[in-house]
Amino acid sequence: MNRQPYYITTPIYYVNDLPHLGHAYTTVACDAMARYKRMRGYDVFFLTGTDEHGQKIERKAVAEGFTPQAYVDKIAESFVQLWETLDISNDGFIRTTDPRHVKVVQRVFQQLLDNDDIYKGSYEGWYCTPCEAFFPESQLVDGKCPDCGRDVEWTQEEAYFFRLSKYGRPLLDHIATHPEFIEPSSRRNEMVRFIEGGLEDLCVSRTTFTWGIPVPFAPGHVAYVWIDALTNYLTAIGYLGDAEMFNKYWPADVHVMGKEIVRFHSVIWPAILMSLGLPLPKQVFGHGWWTVEGEKMSKSKGNVIKPDEYAAEFGVDAVRYFMLREVPFGQDGDFSRMNFIYRVNADLANDLGNLLSRATAMIIKFCDGKVPEPGVQEEPDRLLPELAAEVLEGAAAAYDRLAFSDALAEVFRLVGAANKYIDDVAPWNLAKTEEGKSRLGTVLYNIAETVRVSAVMLAPVLTRGPRQLWYQLGIDGSPEEAGWEAARWGGLKPGTQVRRGDPVYPRVDAKAEAQRLKVAGGSAKAEAAAPAKVTDAEPAGQPGRGAEVQAAPPAQEQITIEDFARIDLRVATVLEAEVVKGSDKLLKLQVDLGSERRQIVAGIAKHYVPEDLVGKQVVVVANLKPAKLRGEISNGMLLAASSAGEPVVVAVVSPEKDLPAGSKVK
Ligand SMILES: [Zn+2]
Repeated sequence: MNRQPYYITTPIYYVNDLPHLGHAYTTVACDAMARYKRMRGYDVFFLTGTDEHGQKIERKAVAEGFTPQAYVDKIAESFVQLWETLDISNDGFIRTTDPRHVKVVQRVFQQLLDNDDIYKGSYEGWYCTPCEAFFPESQLVDGKCPDCGRDVEWTQEEAYFFRLSKYGRPLLDHIATHPEFIEPSSRRNEMVRFIEGGLEDLCVSRTTFTWGIPVPFAPGHVAYVWIDALTNYLTAIGYLGDAEMFNKYWPADVHVMGKEIVRFHSVIWPAILMSLGLPLPKQVFGHGWWTVEGEKMSKSKGNVIKPDEYAAEFGVDAVRYFMLREVPFGQDGDFSRMNFIYRVNADLANDLGNLLSRATAMIIKFCDGKVPEPGVQEEPDRLLPELAAEVLEGAAAAYDRLAFSDALAEVFRLVGAANKYIDDVAPWNLAKTEEGKSRLGTVLYNIAETVRVSAVMLAPVLTRGPRQLWYQLGIDGSPEEAGWEAARWGGLKPGTQVRRGDPVYPRVDAKAEAQRLKVAGGSAKAEAAAPAKVTDAEPAGQPGRGAEVQAAPPAQEQITIEDFARIDLRVATVLEAEVVKGSDKLLKLQVDLGSERRQIVAGIAKHYVPEDLVGKQVVVVANLKPAKLRGEISNGMLLAASSAGEPVVVAVVSPEKDLPAGSKVK
C-alpha cells in the first residue's frame, strides 16, 4: 500500500550565528508535526538545514581567521549537534554549499532567464566601501554607515532582476482561492495588503562579494539570497536529479518559519515557482517570537536562551513541552525561567507523573501488581473512557492544524480528569468491601489505561517520557512506534505486570530556584535573566557549563556589596587597536577612560579584528594591578564573555547605550 507523502520544512538557518531558542522553536515544532504524521502512517520527509552564503559570512569568516567554507562547516555542525540534543528526527539536512544545490540554483537561474523573468539592470544605493555593503536611505545613521559610522557613497552596481512585479495578480488570485495558503490568518491579511501595495522587481545577483553561487550566464555575478536560499526546498527532495522522489514529495505540505520571513515564502518563493511552472506549497505557516523575561532576546542584553543548556538541566522533554505548550503556535510568547519550571512541575511532574505513580502504587497494593480485569461499572466510571475518545479526536484535530498547545491541553484535560476521578472515587475505600472490590478493578483499569493512552498522544512532543510511562505500566515498546491508533481506549491487557520505577519527570525545587535567582539577580523582576548576566560578567577564559552554577554560589562564597565595590568597572572607548607582534591571541588597545588614556592588552585576537573594536565602547576593570603580556604593559582588563562548548564565541561586554568615557559600571 502506498503511504501518503507529507513534506514539512523549517527554513534553512543563516550561519552568521550559533543556534538559539528561535531556531530550536521552529525545529521542535516541525519535529513534533513530523512525528505525529509518521504516527498516523504518513510517509514523511522532514527537512532542515543551513543557509551558508553571502557577504556577512564571508566577512565574519575572515574576521575569525577562517576560510568561508571552514567557517560554515563549523557553524553548520553546531546546528547538527543541537538537533541531536533535542531529539530532532529530520530526514534531510540541506546546506546551500552542497554541490547538488549549487547545480540546482544555476539551473533555476537559467530557466528563469529563458522564461524572460530575469533581466539585467542596475542596483543603486548608499554604499559603504569598507563594509562592502549597500544601505537604503532609511537605514543610514546621521547620513553615515549604520555599521561602521563612516561616510557612504551613492553607487550603482550592475545586477540581475527577477520580474516579481509580474506576479502580484496571480499571487492574489492564488491566496483568494487557497485561503489556507498563509497561516495564521493575521499573516495572510498582512501579505495581501503588501502585495496589493504593488510589487517591485527583485535584485537576485550581486557583484560586490564572491562567497556565493556563480550566476551561470554572467561572470562576476553571484546569486543573491533569494534564489540561493529558497530553492533548497527543491534540491533536498531531488529536483532535477531524482524525479521519482521529487514527484512524491512536491509540493511541500507546509513550510514553517518565524513570522519575519513569511513574506519571502509567501510572495517571492511562490512567484519563483510560478515562473518555473511548479505547483506551490500547500501552506506557509509563520509562528511568533519569544521574548525573554519580557524583554527582546539579544546578545548585547546577555539574555539569549540556550536550549541545549535547558535540556541538560531539565531534560529534553521539558524543553520541548514548554515551548509547544506555553504559547499557542502562531502567537508571540515569553520565555521565563520560573514559568518554565512552574509549567514543567505542574503538568509533567505533578499531573502526569502523579497519575502514573498513583496507578502503579494502587495496582501493586490491591492487585498484586497486575492490571485488573474491569468489573462492575457505575455511572462515574464511564467518564474516563468517554473523555478519552473525545480527547483523541480533539488532540488529532489540533495537531493537524499545528495547534500544539491545544493538542497538549486536550491530553492534560484527560490526565487532570483522571486525578480528580481518583480523589472522587477513593479506590482505597473500595478495597475494604467485597462488592467494592469488583468495582475497584474497573477504577484501577481506567486510571492505568488513561496513562497508557496519554503517553501515545504526547509522543509527538515528548520523545523520552512516554516510553518510560509504558514501561512502568508493564508495556514494552514505544508508544510512538505503536502509532496513533494505539491511543484508542481498551488496549491495556488485564494481567499485565506493572513495574514501579523512579519518577519519569522529577519535580524541580521551584522555591529554591526562585531564591537562587533572587540571590543572583538582586530583584524578583530580574530573576530569570540573572544567571546569564552573571555568567557574561565573568572574565573570558573561564566559561563552561559550570558558569551558571557559579552564578549561585553557596553561602560561604557570597560576597558583600562592599567587596564588589572594590572593583572599579568603567566604560572606556577604544581609540586604537592592533595585534601584539609575535602573538596570535593578543590585541593591544588604547582606550579613553575619560580622565586618562590607557593601554590594555586583551586575549581576543582570535575573535576580533582590530577594526571591529575601534570606536566601540567597552567595560574595563580600571583598578587591576598592571601586568606585562608579551612585553606589553596592560593597565586594566577588558571584560568579555565566552560561550560554553565548541565553537567558542567570544563577545566583548559593551554598554547598551553610548556613555561618556569613564562612566562607572555598578
Ligand atoms: Zn561601513
